[in-house]
Amino acid sequence: MQEKKIEAQKPPFLRPGKADIRYLKGVGPKKAEFLNRLGINTTEDLLYYLPRRYEDRSNFSLIKDLKVGEHQTVKGKVLTFGTHVTKRGINIFQMALADKTGVIYCVWFNQPFLKKLFTVGQEIIIYGKVEKYDKLQINHPEYEIIKDKSDSVNMGKIVPIYPLTQDVNQHYIRSLTREAIRHSLFSLKESLPTHIRARRRLVDLRFAIQNIHFPVSFENLDKAYKRLVFEEFFILQLALALKKKDVKTGPPGISHSLDGGLIDSFKKLFPFELTQSQVKAIHEIQKDMASPKPMNRLLEGDVGSGKTAVAIYAFLLTAQNGYQGAFMAPTEILARQHYISISELLMPLGINVRLLVSGLKPEKKLEIKKEIENGETDIIIGTHALIWEDVGFSKLGLVVIDEQHKFGVAQRHILRKKGLNPDVLVMTATPIPRTLALTVYGDLDISVIKELPKGRYPITTYWIEEGERAKVYQFIREEIGQGRQAYIVYPRIWATKRSPSQELLTVPKEGVLTRAEKAATHMYNKLREEVFSDLKVGLIHGRMAVKEKDDIMRRFKERKIDILVSTTVIEVGIDVPNATVMVIENAEQFGLSQLHQLRGRIGRGSYSSYCILLGTPRTEAAKKRFYTMSQTQDGFKVAEQDLELRGPGEFLGTKQHGLPELRFGNIVRDFEIMEQARAEAFNLVEQDPYLKDPRNGFIKNILGRRFAGKLDLTNVG
Ligand code: ADP
Ligand code: MG
Repeated sequence: MQEKKIEAQKPPFLRPGKADIRYLKGVGPKKAEFLNRLGINTTEDLLYYLPRRYEDRSNFSLIKDLKVGEHQTVKGKVLTFGTHVTKRGINIFQMALADKTGVIYCVWFNQPFLKKLFTVGQEIIIYGKVEKYDKLQINHPEYEIIKDKSDSVNMGKIVPIYPLTQDVNQHYIRSLTREAIRHSLFSLKESLPTHIRARRRLVDLRFAIQNIHFPVSFENLDKAYKRLVFEEFFILQLALALKKKDVKTGPPGISHSLDGGLIDSFKKLFPFELTQSQVKAIHEIQKDMASPKPMNRLLEGDVGSGKTAVAIYAFLLTAQNGYQGAFMAPTEILARQHYISISELLMPLGINVRLLVSGLKPEKKLEIKKEIENGETDIIIGTHALIWEDVGFSKLGLVVIDEQHKFGVAQRHILRKKGLNPDVLVMTATPIPRTLALTVYGDLDISVIKELPKGRYPITTYWIEEGERAKVYQFIREEIGQGRQAYIVYPRIWATKRSPSQELLTVPKEGVLTRAEKAATHMYNKLREEVFSDLKVGLIHGRMAVKEKDDIMRRFKERKIDILVSTTVIEVGIDVPNATVMVIENAEQFGLSQLHQLRGRIGRGSYSSYCILLGTPRTEAAKKRFYTMSQTQDGFKVAEQDLELRGPGEFLGTKQHGLPELRFGNIVRDFEIMEQARAEAFNLVEQDPYLKDPRNGFIKNILGRRFAGKLDLTNVG
């Protein structure tokens, strides 16, 4: 970072924005400390410290017009105030505020110091959610005391409200920001290339900063906001574009030849016609694999959309070229299931398929690893961990990573470190809304399987309360009477008054059970002994021995079990077309995507299927989840809703989600700006792949600073 050194040598008066906040007029040592705590260390930090919202001060609500349940702003005079302490020792500070039309009460808990702040007759502005008990009330409103009517900062038409702690008030930060703008706005340097700003009609940086704090109109505020968000997204997308270019221009991968007998036999492998989406995905993959640039593709498709068939095509292509393929599944059950179906299909073609999971005997494992090393094995199927850790491939051509979108991307890096540069296909059944895909997987190519195979029967989803449990059991019984099978699934947390009895909880050798496992075990015993004593009930959970799990799954597939009680181990990939009922217990404890994944275990055969959500959703979010499930079967709609309910971080899971930290933009709300920024960024990298054009110099510096260590920019200039 040469740039940084040069900057550090410049005297502060040449770069006032970088000067310590202490040097700004109005900041003493104490205040500086408070500001530092808010992350404001320099004047520039202050300029980039954005308001949380704005108040239109020309537009206060009259107390008589207040709408209960909504957030509103009221201006009025303090009538009275006082504190009292409840029996439980809670200090309550209450204040009555009046305007010409009525009175509203403000209540604060445990903030007795407030009484020193207010005086009767004082004019104040409050903001908060209006509630109605016997009187109108706002609990813990935001407040501002109008001290000086001529104060232009605070009495402007549109007033910024900053996210603050108690130590710094709105008044203070506003005047300070005003001062910072006066003092060092001129030193901010434009970062976006002029031609991009012109094309996208973006205001310049100084205008944006000025107006994000003190907009003279909402129109200007919009312009300022759009510009700042665009810049943030642009830099992010630029990083992704460079990363993608880097994969393509880095060490070459394998160029798979399309000539040869194996892929011709692909069509004859299946008794069905491929869907249009499958055909399209296969074409895209084929093109990637034929190219010497390594494939880096994400295959998205709802549960049951037939991703595995697409993957099999890719395996045939790599085997035909004399390379090895690795298929990684997230669980052992799934790996085994893939192994059974894939070896059945491909062994007759002379392709050697092997399974590598931790449940195997050590000698067997060793033997398989040897076979992989000396190239006897064509396709190796296993769990993620095993394949990454200690397997030496002789000529790895393709890696398919199933159902694990979170880690797939990072793992490609490990392969390259091992000196391998195979084609990589990551498959996920959690459809990723486009807005997230552009942000987190912006450096991958994406294929989407949009439709389910024809002839699939619908899944109807019901939402049923505990009181009707007996009817649910009756329904299961009827379906089994028709020759079908059922799943009953338990969540991680299990709340019930009936505590499972101890002896049911000890399963020999397998150690302590999780709550879900206990719940499943308990219910399994109850159902087997009482409710369905005439039927065959099975139990499966993660803590059972692998052999036992396999055995249970096999028996369920062979219809030797009617009802399978389980934890979420069946969440991904299990394929038993004859199962038509899925009961999800305490369904309010599952997330939306997870419910959808679970539901994907049914509706896989030629029968109508039924998903029953048993439980009582108490929160709004839980109700929305139930509602969404009962309204749609489309995984993309479910995912959009899930993203909206939980936000991007939660949606992707917390670990390694690769979600960038954003200061201004919101990838859901500001999606359109993201698309524009992406188009510009990819365009720029196309035209100037090494950012050599002096017009792009400034943005290159920003990239270098912002993504130092995270992005390999060595190829960039
Ligand atoms: P996914 O991995 O996407 O959840 P699978 O690949 O396991 O889905 O496919 C689910 C089921 O659908 C399998 O039994 C598979 O054989 C079948 N299948 C796949 N493609 C088609 C198709 N085009 N038409 C009919 N059935 C299909
Ligand atoms: Mg699958």
